[in-house]
Amino acid sequence: MQVIKAKELGFCMGVRRAVEMMEGAADKMGSITSLGSTVHNPQVVDQLRSRGVEVIATLEAIDTRPVAITAHGVGPQVLRELESRGAAIVDTTCPIVTRAQQWAKKLTDEGFGVIIFGDPEHKEVRGILGWAQGKVITMKTAAELDAPLPDWMPSRVGVLSQTTETEGHFALFVQRLLTVHMDHISELRVINTLCNATTSQQAATEELAHEVDLMVVVGGRESANTRHLADVSREQGVETYHVESATEIDASWLTGRAKVGVAAGASTPDTVIDDVVARLYALAPST
Ligand code: SF4
Repeated sequence: MQVIKAKELGFCMGVRRAVEMMEGAADKMGSITSLGSTVHNPQVVDQLRSRGVEVIATLEAIDTRPVAITAHGVGPQVLRELESRGAAIVDTTCPIVTRAQQWAKKLTDEGFGVIIFGDPEHKEVRGILGWAQGKVITMKTAAELDAPLPDWMPSRVGVLSQTTETEGHFALFVQRLLTVHMDHISELRVINTLCNATTSQQAATEELAHEVDLMVVVGGRESANTRHLADVSREQGVETYHVESATEIDASWLTGRAKVGVAAGASTPDTVIDDVVARLYALAPST
């Protein structure tokens, strides 16, 4: 049995940068806190904890230590709250997320209503939402466009996406918006806020899914981009498992497989990917 890794997988620029910034700050200050999990990956959180980065869930848990903002970013209200509490801020917001936040603000400043295509519960989307200052709605699926737009939605509409969405899903969303709501729209501005790291990982996963007879996608269960990779893989018609760690791999999955593909989300460290590859080979049925 052969195990093939996707051409693009694992830590992206934004996550690598955030982890290095947090480790650097913790080394310098002794210990820092992180407002929420640094990335949606339990192994990375454990590694950072050992370096002096403690995750706190809410602003109420802030103490005298510096507070890191994670790669997902936050809304302006959270920044104001941190400043009013006198907290030293280590801002590791990914530059690609910052760009989406700036577009949300610019569009509302210019009188556009904003539609964000993404998961309203996701931390990145909640942050972008905050920058859009009120005239904004979030939609997780294109099917939600079949309902009327809110009365307050201006006829000038701006659309942007959660950075980790797929190109195909975002394109379909925009098409449906035009098809269903052309009567409402006098001007439409579509901002491509998708992340290249994510789209190239998705393309590499799609390509690999056609070459193998089983795919294992590695990454945190809460990681949106890892879940999207698993979706992309399944959409190619190949049997796909999403695992957080090597221990979840079941030997029965490998029966009769000649080629197994491995993809991994942008928050998955190399060590976890290596463990998965090693376990796949260890569990491979002998011929
Ligand atoms: S996936 Fe893209 S947007 Fe998200 S942290 Fe990585 S580089 Fe930034």
